[in-house]
Amino acid sequence: MEEVAVVTGASRGIGRAIAVHLAREGVAVAVNYASSSGKADEVVAEIEGSGGTAIAVQADVSDEAAVAAMFDRVAEELGPVTILVNNAGITDDGLVLRMGTDQWDRVISTNLRSVYLCTKAALRGMVRAKHGRIINISSVSGVSGNPGQANYAASKAGIIGFTKSMAKEVGSRGITVNAVAPGFIETDMTEALGEDATGRAAGQISLGRLGTPEEVASVVGYLASDGASYITGQTIVVDGGLAL
Ligand code: NAP
Repeated sequence: MEEVAVVTGASRGIGRAIAVHLAREGVAVAVNYASSSGKADEVVAEIEGSGGTAIAVQADVSDEAAVAAMFDRVAEELGPVTILVNNAGITDDGLVLRMGTDQWDRVISTNLRSVYLCTKAALRGMVRAKHGRIINISSVSGVSGNPGQANYAASKAGIIGFTKSMAKEVGSRGITVNAVAPGFIETDMTEALGEDATGRAAGQISLGRLGTPEEVASVVGYLASDGASYITGQTIVVDGGLAL
């Protein structure tokens, strides 16, 4: 069966590495992005340059109509989706006492509502095919909590509950649903924290350094592979020992 993946938020960072990794495994990849069309085109060019297949698809993953249109286009241009990686995510940090409700809603909507919308859109075809892999990118913040990130941690913990529930809902249909919870990974998201904060973070990590997007992508690639056919409902922490 030809594998077709949608990777949300694949124009940069971890999503980009996941798209490139899956393409290298022979998967046709839809590179979703919100606004970085130039960067998404670069990812597509990189994949095509190595002999792979990819398309760039713009969609705000918190928007139900945009998500539906994205899945229609991917099915038309690449075929039925067999792998969904819910990776798109944002932070908008602040202590709850100072947090605006719009700040709460935006993070929950982008990080969690999106996972529900994209999963629902991908599931119909997967149920029909009796085959599918859904991999949701959570965070160690969702496992352990983090002061100043109540909105983000709630969205990422929500993803873990959603992952377990979906694994139970669709397991009998040949679909596995797992989560990956990265720690500190070198991307624009962590660069925004500044050198002092990332330096302090590195001091807390058993391996003594931040992770690379490729180190997350290889775990996602494994969960999407035949080798992971009997793993479902799990959250795999990829954090260099941060949460130990
Ligand atoms: P990043 O470098 O900031 O990239 C975020 C990606 O998400 C971009 O491709 C962005 O698209 C896309 N995106 C944002 N809002 C979107 C929306 N509404 N619709 C569609 N796409 C949207 O982030 P990252 O560090 O790679 O993080 C990727 C995932 O890993 C996130 O879920 C994040 O929470 C999680 N994570 C990251 C870390 C870390 O240390 N970096 C740790 C734990 C978990 P545009 O380029 O178009 O804006």
